[in-house]
Amino acid sequence: MGSCEILSGALRDVPVTGHRRVGRAQRLCIAGWLGLLVTAGWAVPTPAETLRLDPMETKDSLERAWYAPAPSLDVRVARTRSAALEVGVWNLDGAARALVGDAFPEPAIERSRAALALAPDLPLAHLAHAQAHWQAHRPLPATAALVSSVLAIPRHPEAAPWFAGNALVLLAAALVSGAGVCLLLAAAWALPHMSHDLGDWIPRRNLPEFARAAVLASLLLVPIALGEGVFGLVLAAAVVAAWGYRGRRRWAVITAAGLLWVGLFPVLGLGTRVLTGLQTDAVARAALASLRGVGSPMDLPLLESAAQVDPLAGWALARRSVRRGELADAHALYERLLAQRPNDPALMNDAANVHLERGHLEPALALYRRAADLSDSAVPRFNLAQTHGRAFDVESLANALAEAQEVDAALVAELSQLPGARIDGIVAGLPVPREWIWERALASGQGEALASALRAPWVPGVLGRGSSTSALGLVLALSAGGLLARGMPRSSGCSQCGRRICGRCDPSQNGFVGSSCSDCARLFQRSEASGRSRARAQRIRALATRRRRLAGLAWTASLALPGAAGFLAGRPLLGLLGALSFGLAASMAAFPTGIVPDPLLMGDAARWAALGVAALSILTYGAVVTWSIRLWGGR
Ligand SMILES: [Zn+2]
Ligand SMILES: [Zn+2]
Repeated sequence: MGSCEILSGALRDVPVTGHRRVGRAQRLCIAGWLGLLVTAGWAVPTPAETLRLDPMETKDSLERAWYAPAPSLDVRVARTRSAALEVGVWNLDGAARALVGDAFPEPAIERSRAALALAPDLPLAHLAHAQAHWQAHRPLPATAALVSSVLAIPRHPEAAPWFAGNALVLLAAALVSGAGVCLLLAAAWALPHMSHDLGDWIPRRNLPEFARAAVLASLLLVPIALGEGVFGLVLAAAVVAAWGYRGRRRWAVITAAGLLWVGLFPVLGLGTRVLTGLQTDAVARAALASLRGVGSPMDLPLLESAAQVDPLAGWALARRSVRRGELADAHALYERLLAQRPNDPALMNDAANVHLERGHLEPALALYRRAADLSDSAVPRFNLAQTHGRAFDVESLANALAEAQEVDAALVAELSQLPGARIDGIVAGLPVPREWIWERALASGQGEALASALRAPWVPGVLGRGSSTSALGLVLALSAGGLLARGMPRSSGCSQCGRRICGRCDPSQNGFVGSSCSDCARLFQRSEASGRSRARAQRIRALATRRRRLAGLAWTASLALPGAAGFLAGRPLLGLLGALSFGLAASMAAFPTGIVPDPLLMGDAARWAALGVAALSILTYGAVVTWSIRLWGGR
């Protein structure tokens, strides 16, 4: 009798209840898994690194605002925030990093508050704020700031693609490992039955079980021998699983094969594309750094050579010219940009800011009005109000301001209070639209190369090379299993003694397939005197001992093998769910900070987000295992 048979067929009907069956082996399993997850998740945290603005480029308005002497940190921050918003830098990440580092003498809580004022969407700043509250023994605000550090991830223009790319790659790992484990478990359950039944079709009957198993194993190992590696093993498992599960349960096998493919190709492909899109695009990286106010003068030649054809590079140069007060250059650059992208409200608003700064009120008004029509932000409306103010048109000013307040009153209040270089307040730029960044993040990059490199150890062969060939391989494997199963009466294992019940080998067992063998059925039928009563009692005791032993084994398997509990309960879909949730928890715990280094945006926020996902997955896994154990234990 194969071990898989012990763990499944015979066991499914064993009544097991109560926690007293959780013995030493099971406790060791739980402790082992928990230990693995905890140590992986809490590997040494990386300290938040700081990055300072380049003090060499003193013509820059942003750097002047930041570096010029100030009576207090508050004054420095308000002055810098207003200079930053004027050039559309809504997250001044460099200054925020310097603040949460040790560059300033103020207490940690003041520094983190200032960092949040300058970079409200930077996860790192929220995290520093949480730490400052925690050190001051204020656990509630600390927890709130910790949660906002994770919630800030999708808002930050560059943290979002980094996080999404990593999350997709880890999701792919979870899908592939969970679905793969599920197919292997399903195959392990069906394999002994399949080897026996196929053996019955070989002309020379009563072939010993080990010989039948050897024949089937040699057939199943063909894809591995052909160099298909782990994917070949999974293909063989898919054949056996499709053979072993029929009716509704076969859908669980088909779903597992589908999810394996989805993880291996579309999800991994998209994740690596997003990850490499920005990493390998030197122009985009330089342009975004410059637009963030932390550009290096070394990137200038690169941006200049790309600006003719690349609007992102052109925009970075235009905003740099604005910061340096080179308004004629900025105007020329915006003229070209608006010709390239005529319907972009952020570009119109910027171009209007330049017009206003040069004293050209009419073109500024026209551009602000168009930008306000095209954008759902309060910024162009606020700027329109400011322009009307400079033209002393009080009525239009009041109308535009009311309209801006209707869109976002809090933002208008912030913009009105900021100190400007001019007495009549500031006009603000719009942030770089997310579409611009995602467009670049999704551009080709080296995504497919990275995806192939990640896939290679698991799918080394010809079939795994492309998405269509591997899909074909899986479909063929599932169909082969289904076709083999067609019209073949199945043998089973006795739920009491584990003996093979096969109508072909032993016609007296006909009609017993799927339950107890004929001997056990007779043994438990009290009405019929089945031989001497002492021998009967002995036999029943032996069966009870076997049941207890198997129950212990089933507990161990349920806890040690992700997904096994669902299979023991005869619910392969539960097994799949268990394996997937365990896979997700494991991949999050194994790579809590992603597979590509964090571009100094996240701090430990990535780790906390990964920990949250891992905790949710572990809870799901625990619920699935408990439910499954109740299902097979309660029968
Ligand atoms: Zn039996
Ligand atoms: Zn047989």
